[in-house]
Amino acid sequence: MSGKGLTRSPGSDARGVAAEELRRHNLALIIDRLHFAGPMSRSDLVTRTGLNRSTIGALVNELSELSLVEVGPATTASGPGRPSPIVRPRPEGAVVLAVELAVDSIAVATVGLGGHVFNHVRVERPRKHLLPVDAVAVIADLARPLLGSLPANHKFAGVGVAVVGVVRRSDGYLHIAPNLGWRDVPMGALLSDALSTGHPVSVANEADLGAIAEHRRGTYPNARNLIYVSGEVGIGAGIIADGVPLHGAAGYAAEAGHTLINPEGRPCRCGGTGCWETEAGEAALLRHAGTCGDTTGLAAIAELSRAAAAGEDSALCAFTQLGHWLGLGIGNLINLFNPDVVVLGGLYHRFYEYLELSVVKGAKSQALLPAWDVATITKAGLGTDAPLVGAGELALSALIADPARAESLREYHRARPLRESGAPVPRSQGA
Ligand SMILES: [Zn+2]
Repeated sequence: MSGKGLTRSPGSDARGVAAEELRRHNLALIIDRLHFAGPMSRSDLVTRTGLNRSTIGALVNELSELSLVEVGPATTASGPGRPSPIVRPRPEGAVVLAVELAVDSIAVATVGLGGHVFNHVRVERPRKHLLPVDAVAVIADLARPLLGSLPANHKFAGVGVAVVGVVRRSDGYLHIAPNLGWRDVPMGALLSDALSTGHPVSVANEADLGAIAEHRRGTYPNARNLIYVSGEVGIGAGIIADGVPLHGAAGYAAEAGHTLINPEGRPCRCGGTGCWETEAGEAALLRHAGTCGDTTGLAAIAELSRAAAAGEDSALCAFTQLGHWLGLGIGNLINLFNPDVVVLGGLYHRFYEYLELSVVKGAKSQALLPAWDVATITKAGLGTDAPLVGAGELALSALIADPARAESLREYHRARPLRESGAPVPRSQGA
C-alpha cells in the first residue's frame, strides 16, 4: 500500500515517508476509538479524533477494505446537517485467542475486534502444583474447540496470555510464579508450540493485563491513573500512569505483593519476609479466620464466604483484619502513584462488601491527604474476568497499533491447524 506516486527528489521522499507514517498513525487512531468505544458515526469520529471529514472518509474506506470495519446507514441524525453513516468494528476481521492461567482456574476465550467475545470457557482446577507442560496441554485442549468453531471467514490475529507470575515481555519467559510453584518456564515458546496457530504468543502478568482491561473497558474508562490490585493466593498489581501501562525496564514493575509491609512478619513464598501478600493474601485471610497452617484453597474460602454471608463474627472480623492490611498497602500505592482510581479484583472483588470499610479506613490512615482526596477505591467493573479481557487486548494490540497488518491476516482455518496434543490431559488436573 506504500510507495505510490513518490517522485525521486530526497525532499519529496522524506515527505512521502512522513505522510505514510501519518496515515498509519491516523488509521490506528480510528481503529482504537472504534475498538474501545464501539460503533459511531463518521461525524463522531471527526469529533473524537480531531481529523477532518474527508480524511476520516478516506481512512474509513481503507479500514473497510482491510475488513476491519463496516459502514452502515445512519440510524438517526447526530446533529445539524445530513445523518452521518455509522462505522462499526468487524469482530470477525481480527479474532484472537485470550488465555488466563490463574492459580485456581484456567480460562480461554475467542475475542474479536471491538471486544466481542465469540466463545469463552473457564475451568476450575484443584489447588495443587501443575507441571507447566501439563498446564499448556490443558490450555490447548480448551482452545481447540473454540478455535475450531470459528466460522470460515474469521481472520486470526494472535494469542495473548495472562499468567500469575513475573514475565519477560519480549519472549514470554516466566521467571518466577511462586503461587504456581514455577520458576524459569519458557511460557511463550511452550504455548506457541502447543497451539501452532502460526502467530506469536504474547505473555504478560495477569494483574498488568487486568489493569489494562479495567483502564479501557472497566467502570472508569477515562481514568488516566489507575491501579489494579487483585487478590488470589497472592497479590497482583498493575499500574496505568498518565494513561500508559507501567512496565518498567523489562516488564517486571508493579510487583506490589512483594513489597515490604511488616518487617516483623512472616516468610513469603518469594523468599522475602513480611511482603504485603503475607498480610493481605489468601493465607492471611484464613489465618485471621482461625483456619491455621497451610489449609488454603477453594474449599476453605467457600466456607469463609458462607460464614460471612451468615453474619458470623469470626468471618466478618477476618475480612476486617485483611482489609486493614490491604488498605495500608493501597495507601502506600496512593502516595507513590497518585491514582484517580484503585480497582480491586479477584478475591477482593468477590468479597468487596465485607472489605470495603476497613480497606478505606486503612488506606486513608496511610495516604497523604491531597492524594487521598482525589482517589476512588472500587471493585473491578469486569469482575474476575479482567485479566482474561486484558489478554485479549494484549493479543490485539499490535493490530490496533498498525491496522495495515490486517493485510497479512489469514482466515483461521487456512492458518496452521492447532496440533493435537500428544499426551492425554490428566482430567484430575483440568476440567
Ligand atoms: Zn514476597
